[in-house]
Amino acid sequence: MTTDTATGSLALLGLPQDDNSTFLRGPRLGPDAIRHAIVCDSANMFAESGCDLGAPGLWHDAGDVVLEQLSGVDAYNAIHDRVGRLLEEGNRVFSLGGDHSVSYPAVMAHARHHSGLNLLHIDAHPDLYDDMGGNPFSHASPFARLMESGKVKRLVQVGIRTLNAHQRAQAERFGVEVHEVRHGLKIGKLRFDGPVYLTLDLDALDPAFAPGVSHHEPGGLSTREVLTIIQEFSGRLVGADLVELNPDRDINGVSAMVAAKLAKEIMARLIATA
Ligand code: MN
Ligand code: MN
Repeated sequence: MTTDTATGSLALLGLPQDDNSTFLRGPRLGPDAIRHAIVCDSANMFAESGCDLGAPGLWHDAGDVVLEQLSGVDAYNAIHDRVGRLLEEGNRVFSLGGDHSVSYPAVMAHARHHSGLNLLHIDAHPDLYDDMGGNPFSHASPFARLMESGKVKRLVQVGIRTLNAHQRAQAERFGVEVHEVRHGLKIGKLRFDGPVYLTLDLDALDPAFAPGVSHHEPGGLSTREVLTIIQEFSGRLVGADLVELNPDRDINGVSAMVAAKLAKEIMARLIATA
């Protein structure tokens, strides 16, 4: 089933899960921190494109998937089923993590709904590990699982600066288009044919811009560069997630505000292409 002509609302969905993290807990607190920052009185509700996210009916908060008691395949199923239901009801879905493991079920639900799904993945890390600590749902592995599924047409990664030999081999194996930061942000205008799902790991940004993440990886993208990617890529955005904000590591809530700024631009694009 395809919903290419869906006109339903945009649903914001919290996915407070961090038990697939390999280093620190904390991202389960991300959804509420981003929600509060989105409506914080220090900023208005306009995206830079002019979309007024304060206008009634453009989006709604669908709450959280309750994941406290769930892990492994049970958490996967809970996320996959909830995202799938929202899509069937005609919504576009923008998920707030949570660690990056939540993208595996969220993307799979979208792939069932939109054939020929492309992934635009912005991250310091390729998250292509075949195995990390014996956990197939690790936040280090979602894109290995997704490419193994055969449901993703194309995976384009931007912001990458942590490739090791194993992950280079995995990228080669799956035909991943990896844009490493060391080569500069010479990505031109990214173009996609068919539906696009955007998955944004906040640690793609340099920790100077967003210190509130579990894995500080210097040498990253600026807030402006990520905004430009979100605003400029060519393609039909049908779903998105924003993951890995760790409020325990944040300083004065600045990373939550960066996440909220990026979230507003993503929401505006999801609304504009509906
Ligand atoms: Mn990631
Ligand atoms: Mn990352």
